Parts: sequence; structure tokens; C-alpha cells
Amino acid sequence: MDCLFCKIAAGEIPARKLYEDDQVVAFHDIAPQAPVHFLVIPKKHVRTVNDLVEEDKALAGHIVFTAQRLAKEQGCEAGFRMVMNCNEQGGQTVYHIHMHVLGQRQMHWPPG
Ligand code: IMP
Repeated sequence: MDCLFCKIAAGEIPARKLYEDDQVVAFHDIAPQAPVHFLVIPKKHVRTVNDLVEEDKALAGHIVFTAQRLAKEQGCEAGFRMVMNCNEQGGQTVYHIHMHVLGQRQMHWPPG
């Protein structure tokens, strides 16, 4: 399967990894939009948030808790933003789900 994030998960494409276990990988975004900007992805290929199924519930929870823990480790005690873009209008550009975690600057609402 020709998927950039599957290749990062498999170690075939280099990434600045923060964390890895049997289910997820976290790595710094290549084009950071904040002083802290990393992505948490499942090793399992899931194309969009709409493609998550009932059996992925624990995996989705693990992504959130991994993001929460790493945000703390990255010094985001003052706050951070978690984002999952879905499909074209949602701004998704890589079709393997990923949780963005952005921090260490003031966030604004509404997002662009
Ligand atoms: P999306 O637009 O929500 O799909 O987010 C995709 C993210 O992946 C963007 O923030 C990109 O900067 C990031 N990205 C794309 N290619 C790479 C890479 O090779 N390493 C790390 N991050 C990447």
C-alpha cells in the first residue's frame, strides 16, 4: 500500500519519532504550525476518521491518551490543541488518520 504514514510507522521513511509501541507511533510534524507540533498515528492503516469501526474504539482511546501524555512531556501544561482533520473539506491531506497535537503558543478560535 502506498501510504506515507504506513511507511513512517514501518520505519521505511525517517521521522523524528517521540514514541512508539505496538499500536501507535508519534513523530514531529515536518511543517510545524506551533513550537510543539507532533502527530500520533495508529500503525493500522485507517484512511479517515469515518473509517474507524467499533473494534477500533480502544485504539482511538489509545491515540488520545498517548497524545495527552506526550503533550505533557513536551511542556504543554498551559494548554494544547488536538485536531483530526477528516476528508477534503476538513483539511485532510494525508489519508492515514493522525491526531495533531499543537502547543507552546496561544491558539485561536475559530480555526482557519
Ligand atoms: P493533515 O493535513 O491533517 O492530513 O495533516 C498532515 C500533516 O502531515 C501535515 O501537518 C504535514 O505537515 C504532515 N506531514 C506530511 N508529510 C510528513 C512527513 O513525512 N513527516 C512528518 N509530517 C509530515
